[in-house]
Amino acid sequence: MSILGTVKEVFQASNQATTTDESKGAYWCHDCQERVRDVDVKGESTPDCPSCGESMEFERSTGTAGCAC
Ligand SMILES: [Zn+2]
Repeated sequence: MSILGTVKEVFQASNQATTTDESKGAYWCHDCQERVRDVDVKGESTPDCPSCGESMEFERSTGTAGCAC
């Protein structure tokens, strides 16, 4: 069980940077460079940019999807 404990500590320590949690990607506003992780969005719908109010664009995490072509 010590391994699980260590992994959990790593997740908590790098909570802002990790791409290995529940997040599948993030929503972006390319005009404002605003970024909102999908796990921080309530509900299923695309959020609006907090700066300009435009619909944000979903972008999959490069950590799991690789090339998005
Ligand atoms: Zn914006």
